[in-house]
Amino acid sequence: MEEKKLYRAVIFDFDGTIADSMPFLQSIGVDIMMKHFGVSKEDATEKYVSTTGLPYEHQIKMNFPDSPRNEAAIEEFEKLKIERIFEQELFPDAERTVRKLNKMGFDVFVSSSTFQPTIEEYFSRKGILDLFKAIIGYRPGFEKGADHFNHISSGYEIPLDEMVFVGDSLKDYERSRGFCDFIAVKGMFDSERFHEAGHKGRTISQLSEIQEIIDYFE
Ligand SMILES: [Mg+2]
Repeated sequence: MEEKKLYRAVIFDFDGTIADSMPFLQSIGVDIMMKHFGVSKEDATEKYVSTTGLPYEHQIKMNFPDSPRNEAAIEEFEKLKIERIFEQELFPDAERTVRKLNKMGFDVFVSSSTFQPTIEEYFSRKGILDLFKAIIGYRPGFEKGADHFNHISSGYEIPLDEMVFVGDSLKDYERSRGFCDFIAVKGMFDSERFHEAGHKGRTISQLSEIQEIIDYFE
């Protein structure tokens, strides 16, 4: 059995990690690419999945550089997202796991490519906003990855090597590299894909597995 790793803070990605929102987001994200850029469903799906974890704004701009359709596509995505994001369920063990981590002593954060007010509203409606030390969302120039980790480290006095980031996308892993440890959550990508991307740490299927593999660093 591997030794438990010690941290002070656990940072969760939001979409696909805490909230079971990826089927919904992928569906609207792919439809919008097909509608605005005339690509096939297969092509749109590949473009969406290869950039998932980034703000949709970036997913569009990376896949369709300089297209005059970009602003309309991004705007439509954000409109459709806000209409139905609050209907998306938490993963079954998300609340239980975050409560348990709080009890163990961890500061629990969210770092996401979704806007901060959207996540706060979502958690308020589920009655769990108070379980999080802070919600760090996307705004232009302030992204999941370096910006968010440095913000948490300096704002809450938590050294980077005492925090672990939990996420479901390859981009989450890439963005944590060189900053903090990463725990991969299987879903959109399996263990093999994370390994191929260079991830050497743990891969879990259920959030509740986290409490078995980490401990609070006194
Ligand atoms: Mg995610």
